[in-house]
Amino acid sequence: MIITRQKEFKDILKRLEGENKIFLMGCGECSTTCKTGGEKEIKAAKEALEKEGKTVTGYCVPEAPCVAAKVKLELAKNKKPIESADAILIFACGLGAQSLKENLRVEKNIHVGCDTLFMGAVDASGAFFEKCSACGDCVLEETAFICPITRCPKSLLNGPCGGQDKGKCEVDKTRDCAWILIYNELKKHGKAGLLKTARPPKDYSKLTKPRQRTVA
Ligand code: SF4
Ligand code: SF4
Repeated sequence: MIITRQKEFKDILKRLEGENKIFLMGCGECSTTCKTGGEKEIKAAKEALEKEGKTVTGYCVPEAPCVAAKVKLELAKNKKPIESADAILIFACGLGAQSLKENLRVEKNIHVGCDTLFMGAVDASGAFFEKCSACGDCVLEETAFICPITRCPKSLLNGPCGGQDKGKCEVDKTRDCAWILIYNELKKHGKAGLLKTARPPKDYSKLTKPRQRTVA
């Protein structure tokens, strides 16, 4: 899931200066789960904008699987309210916002209502937690399915740094050291021996951006 956070309303309003008629777009997938661009948040944004004297010409919340896949269909369905708007305000991830720009066939300003933060999942406390950095060379099988690239702030590949203290991370002492977690989990399953094999330095050329994959 792509984790987003809404921009502050005062910052959104600033971007909308001089534009009075606004069309709103949300996202029925990740932004709904993050409570940044679901039906409820879009209706709240509509109300807040109307209080500021703006006219909301319409809104849509493209449903799953993803706003990026559904954007064309939604633009066609909402042709009139979009054409009558001065601008579109989208509450979705950067991918959704770019898809909107690429598929929009009329000249309209697009404003981005969310900041895209990371790929994550909900943890036991109900908070969103970064789980994968899309490194292009997955080592989870050797690390008890705890990602060292993401959960260790230094992205170490061969065990803990000298800074871990009683199992806590030196960078953030409220967090467990990823490598102690990995060790304990491997040990529990009789696989601690996996740590005896040193991993070569990571091939960061796989992270050169923009990345692309072609499906035959
Ligand atoms: S090693 Fe970590 S960052 Fe890389 S693909 Fe696997 S989960 Fe993602
Ligand atoms: S203490 Fe552990 S998690 Fe923190 S930076 Fe060092 S190895 Fe990584």
